[in-house]
Amino acid sequence: MSLCHCGGPLPFERCCQPFHLGKALATTPEQLMRSRYSAFVTAQASYLLTTHDPETRQGLTEQVLKQSCEESDFVGLQITDVPPCEQDEGVVEFRAWYRQGKEILALWERSRFRRLESRWYYHSGEIQPAVKLGRNDLCPCGSGKKAKKCCL
Ligand SMILES: [Zn+2]
Ligand SMILES: [Zn+2]
Repeated sequence: MSLCHCGGPLPFERCCQPFHLGKALATTPEQLMRSRYSAFVTAQASYLLTTHDPETRQGLTEQVLKQSCEESDFVGLQITDVPPCEQDEGVVEFRAWYRQGKEILALWERSRFRRLESRWYYHSGEIQPAVKLGRNDLCPCGSGKKAKKCCL
């Protein structure tokens, strides 16, 4: 059973929230990825902006991020690949499942992370083909049930 939004086994208050509150710093790209997913779920736009690499922020604003949080209805996160990290660069591939009408779809992305002055930042992402959740698939919310008996 997952307790945090990110699918981690600890409650939100002891998993991703300390990063949002600035009480802890993510020490790996995966930790940052998970905390950013949880920040999307809980609409922490300022955290999303500050953990976005300044080099690729372009016109990104808190306003834009806030809106994208509000428009998304996330169901769960699956980390699908975490290749070994280079010193200051890392890759995390994930599926972020969200509800759209009666379907559950995944944003499937291979994200690049970069470490600057001991802090990890989201740099950029390569979007993979969209994936649709099947009725008999394991539900991405972490309940351990089939999707048709859970969130679908
Ligand atoms: Zn978490
Ligand atoms: Zn579910």
